[in-house]
Amino acid sequence: MSAPEATSSGRMLVISGPSGCGKSTLCKRLLEDDRVEFSISATTRPMREGETDGREYHFLDADRFRERVEAGDFVEWAEVHGNLYGTLRAPLDRAVADGKIFLIEIDVQGALQLKALEVEGLYVFISPPSAEVLRARLEGRATDSQPVIERRLKKAADEMLEAHRYDATILNDNLDRAFAELQGLVGLSNGCPQGEAR
Ligand code: ADP
Ligand code: 5GP
Repeated sequence: MSAPEATSSGRMLVISGPSGCGKSTLCKRLLEDDRVEFSISATTRPMREGETDGREYHFLDADRFRERVEAGDFVEWAEVHGNLYGTLRAPLDRAVADGKIFLIEIDVQGALQLKALEVEGLYVFISPPSAEVLRARLEGRATDSQPVIERRLKKAADEMLEAHRYDATILNDNLDRAFAELQGLVGLSNGCPQGEAR
């Protein structure tokens, strides 16, 4: 699998970790910086109420998705809960060539798949302070039923064991502190993306 243009100052940033660890919260803050571009995946899952094609996802039917797989349009793709999801290559290459940070928020399985494909980038694992805090955050978010929360917590225990495979781990205890650490890691705290210095 080819890596994005290596001579550019842009780079891919993968933010990953168990459900409820704070990925979305941290990514939203990172996206306030216009040097960061969010990766919009393609999917075959039906659009949910409130979603817009091209905003949350590019919604494709299964035939079109398969055609794009055949055409080599995806950096990676996977079947999740019976639907197909994939990261598109063109926006990644374009953002990296433009010197941007191309932000991919993805679950642990997806991040490790990208890593296995040797897609060049910075892989960051967001760690919750403890299982108890993770439970409290998932319950506090109030977006999932209790059985779904129990399933996610069980999965989180396994996902935590994969943290060492990432380039860096950020402990999301205090949000401001974790965000500052992330900004520093990516090189956005001094007004200059890290890659430009090289
Ligand atoms: P993920 O995207 O990893 O599933 P979220 O960003 O949705 O996780 O965070 C899960 C919940 O925890 C949300 O309600 C969020 O507001 C809250 N949260 C995230 N980070 C912190 C933090 N450092 N301290 C307290 N609550 C947090
Ligand atoms: P949802 O349909 O709830 O938005 O997402 C379901 C799952 O699909 C999540 O676990 C999410 O991480 C995963 N997902 C979303 N986009 C991609 C992608 O581009 N590639 C892979 N491998 N998984 C994705």
